[in-house]
Amino acid sequence: MREVASSAELGAATDAARQRGAGVGFVPTMGALHAGHRALLARARAENGFVVASVFVNPLQFGPAEDLASYPRDREADLAVLAAEGTDLAFLPAEGEVWPSPPEIRLRVGGLADRLEGLARPGHLDGVATVVAKLLHLVGPSRAYFGQKDAQQLAVVRRMVEDLAFPNQIVACPTVREPDGLAVSSRNAYLSATERERATALYRALSAGRDAFRAGRRDPGAVEAAARDLLEGAPGVEPDYVALVDPATFEPAKQAEAGQVLATAARVGRTRLIDNVIL
Ligand code: AMP
Repeated sequence: MREVASSAELGAATDAARQRGAGVGFVPTMGALHAGHRALLARARAENGFVVASVFVNPLQFGPAEDLASYPRDREADLAVLAAEGTDLAFLPAEGEVWPSPPEIRLRVGGLADRLEGLARPGHLDGVATVVAKLLHLVGPSRAYFGQKDAQQLAVVRRMVEDLAFPNQIVACPTVREPDGLAVSSRNAYLSATERERATALYRALSAGRDAFRAGRRDPGAVEAAARDLLEGAPGVEPDYVALVDPATFEPAKQAEAGQVLATAARVGRTRLIDNVIL
């Protein structure tokens, strides 16, 4: 595996791969790599001749009161995971390489960011869209891989690619979970042992909502209530939202249907976690 920090070296390597006729697969990450990232890397490896992964904690997508400074960073461990998954090129730029100065021109997400994560974290999805746009330009992948875990981010990236005619294919990968159902996340590292146990309520709640749908409930309120009741009854868990939404627009469901996303965010102690299931 080759490791580069400059856009110029990255561009030269991906140009060379394309000239050899290799499909380029790209997995953008913020590091603290775990089984969720590994699943994306493995899929990229299986589907492309050349695999690029980036590790970049993007300041544009963090709010002023969020965890940019404390976000877990472990360069050596990340490189070991990337190498083990057969990554060809690891791009680990310094902040000044990606943003030599704060970008004057940024993407702004429309109504898709007026809901759920967009409301809870103003500017977050704009920051995601802006950095993903830049990374897609720098890497020029045939395919870029994103986790269903961040369903609204995935919807934003898909819509950006469509609206702005990016030539890249976006591939969604299923959420990887711990054996007890908790979605694997870099932020799980913030949880104490008690909080870690309590955090299982998110997936149990989403499963209860999905079970209500499977049992025939078609009123979105009933599906959401099945999940919310469980979450509200869970000790030490402060629900933010539970919502059944369209997977592309994130508009509230009018009638519960297969393929919709039941999404939740909740605070467990000081840590804010998100998760979702697809009906
Ligand atoms: P992050 O490093 O948190 O920005 O995540 C990088 C990519 O990994 C994003 O596309 C995430 O959606 C994806 N990802 C994070 N956690 C998981 C998970 N548990 N299962 C699948 N994909 C994930």
